[in-house]
Amino acid sequence: MIKKTNRSQKLFEDAKEYIPGGVNSPVRAFKAVGGTPVFFQSAKGAYIFDEDGRRFIDFVLSWGPMILGHGNPVVLDAIRKQLERAMTFGAPTALEINLAEYICGLLPGIDMIRMVNSGTEATMSAVRLARGFTGRDKIIKFEGCYHGHSDSLLVKAGSGALTLGIPSSPGVPECIANQTITLTYNDINQVQQVMEQIGSEVAAIIVEPVVGNMNCVPPIRGFLNALRECCSSTGALLIFDEVMTGFRINPIGAIGEYGIQPDIICLGKVIGGGLPVGAFGGSREIMEQIAPVGPIYQAGTLAGNPVAMASGLATLKLISEPNFFNPVSTLTTRLVNGIIDRARDAKVPMTSNHVGTMWGIFFSHEREIINYKQVMRCDTKRFAKFFHGMLAEGIYLAPASFEAGFMSSAHSVQDIEYTLDAAERVLNKL
Ligand SMILES: *Cc1c(COP(=O)(O)O)cnc(C)c1O
Repeated sequence: MIKKTNRSQKLFEDAKEYIPGGVNSPVRAFKAVGGTPVFFQSAKGAYIFDEDGRRFIDFVLSWGPMILGHGNPVVLDAIRKQLERAMTFGAPTALEINLAEYICGLLPGIDMIRMVNSGTEATMSAVRLARGFTGRDKIIKFEGCYHGHSDSLLVKAGSGALTLGIPSSPGVPECIANQTITLTYNDINQVQQVMEQIGSEVAAIIVEPVVGNMNCVPPIRGFLNALRECCSSTGALLIFDEVMTGFRINPIGAIGEYGIQPDIICLGKVIGGGLPVGAFGGSREIMEQIAPVGPIYQAGTLAGNPVAMASGLATLKLISEPNFFNPVSTLTTRLVNGIIDRARDAKVPMTSNHVGTMWGIFFSHEREIINYKQVMRCDTKRFAKFFHGMLAEGIYLAPASFEAGFMSSAHSVQDIEYTLDAAERVLNKL
């Protein structure tokens, strides 16, 4: 057992004085698992070090971006070089073309990209683009998918499939929320029925191709296909929110994994290599509706920031090397299957999902988890115990059972074996 931290506790008290809840993003606050959030100080490869100098194997990886692990020397070099040249101009730079061209070259059907500063901005802008392009207002999303915190997307389901959305936060006007319809992820019949009735009013269906915001839930066979067909037959646009899955589940993301072409793609996380970058892209026809070519307004002072572009480009180049992905995916499978084996031995009911380098374990009796209702039935108390047990063993998992886990190329087989040994000890005490 590692000794109990003191610095984090003290820092958390200080933080609460000046920052609401002591954090700059709610999930960091450990509300779902109890206890005090760990304050981190440094990182290297697969490891992160807290303010007390304790080492943890990191399976959060800043919620996905650090697919190369922390402090990759090639990425650091690219960032350093650019820092010396300039941090920002608010004017065009060649680096922006380089990253945009590189991403468009990787993603079939994506001709143009607009850079923004976060995933939230990417999805918010994509929704505006879809509305402006189609001249329609309604948006369809799915329960359990998270698309950032913009008004149109911070909406939960009304009671029936066709009731309009209700704001999931004070501050979101009802007149905006009720333009959003929330359906059940992986329910093909439901979305087909709804689109038959109101498809001509729908600007876009937005979906996480693999959901990473209700733990990790992949699409069932035919689901993404059905979305594509519903959109094509009604003139609605299909938006893939690949902020998490892009360059994570597959060398190019969902287009590569499932062979389905979205009209608009949203990117973030990995494409910044750890610096704040988001992007949205699509065909030339759609993207040229954006200002200054077209009438749909979208802008950003630091958008396409040169340092962030350098970081993103260096990262993407490394992960698109031919031998990059398989070993990281294989390690992910090894981790997930290993935990499941140990849970079975410890007689703890558990199910798992994983796609590429994204993974999730569920404290659940169900054989297969495919939607939000099932995720909500998982044993969150048991997860909280598991989380704290693993934390004490020096393993940092996402501090909530509704979050996906990640793997990086910096994780070694030894790190995974160490993690599995720890999991065995912790599971046997649950
Ligand atoms: C993280 C995430 C976002 C929001 O991105 P931020 O950079 O946190 O604003 C949007 N969509 C998905 C699928 C995400 O995982």
